[in-house]
Amino acid sequence: MIELRNVSKSFTTGKHTLQAVSPTSLTVEKGDIYGLIGFSGAGKSTLLRLINLLEQPTSGTVTVDGQELTSLGAKELRQARHSIGMIFQHFNLLSNETCLANVEFALEVAGVPASERTKRAADCLDIVGLGDKALEYPARLSGGQKQRVAIARALANNPKVLLCDEPTSSLDPHTTLSLLKFLERINRELGVTIVIVTHEINVVKYICNKAAVMENGQIIEHLDLTRGDVTPSTDLGKFLFETAG
Ligand code: ATP
Ligand code: MG
Repeated sequence: MIELRNVSKSFTTGKHTLQAVSPTSLTVEKGDIYGLIGFSGAGKSTLLRLINLLEQPTSGTVTVDGQELTSLGAKELRQARHSIGMIFQHFNLLSNETCLANVEFALEVAGVPASERTKRAADCLDIVGLGDKALEYPARLSGGQKQRVAIARALANNPKVLLCDEPTSSLDPHTTLSLLKFLERINRELGVTIVIVTHEINVVKYICNKAAVMENGQIIEHLDLTRGDVTPSTDLGKFLFETAG
């Protein structure tokens, strides 16, 4: 479903060039819940943003759902991005719009006719269990509810892929658990392939079937988490999986 081939990303400021992601390859299969884990600055968010080309790779190719995004023009890319939803640590909702309007806005951007938007947005809020909060403003919702609105917005265009950047970092453990259960349901019932960036090992252990460990802009280890005995071979992998939770 997602194929990154030798992608890299460097940022240049003045004379200084920083290699945020070194040439890296990653395959995410349809139906995976794939974790990207590593310490701060490892390049996790950058790698995630390379998947929908929010960051233009310095080199390499990105293919999502059989379409090579790195070969598309601006207009085709905008179209292709509709099948990729994204959610963030701080939810990134429009605070002066209602929950319903937040979701409607995503539909408007995607070119859905005005006459269909309200019904579809309301349906999306129902899916995340917030139908009764449609006309509420984000400031009046709990963190978990805000994240669910963000998910409703991300799901509004029926994406095949959902990219999540630290989706639970602003949430307490109880809300984290219910959000993870919710993501699991989206994966199982709607068949959405999910990639989650996190530094919380328990999130990966709970929800992911596969994970990649990142360090210094590189994936240093790929792990299959469906078997009971996860046996990391790198020091960081061992530290993350064998000492925590
Ligand atoms: P965290 O867990 O703290 O979110 P991360 O693993 O997501 O970290 P990235 O945000 O991908 O790390 O950053 C990787 C490196 O790239 C960091 O050194 C960061 O400073 C640098 N970087 C990221 N975005 C930019 C940018 N737009 N311009 C310059 N440098 C950047
Ligand atoms: Mg990050």
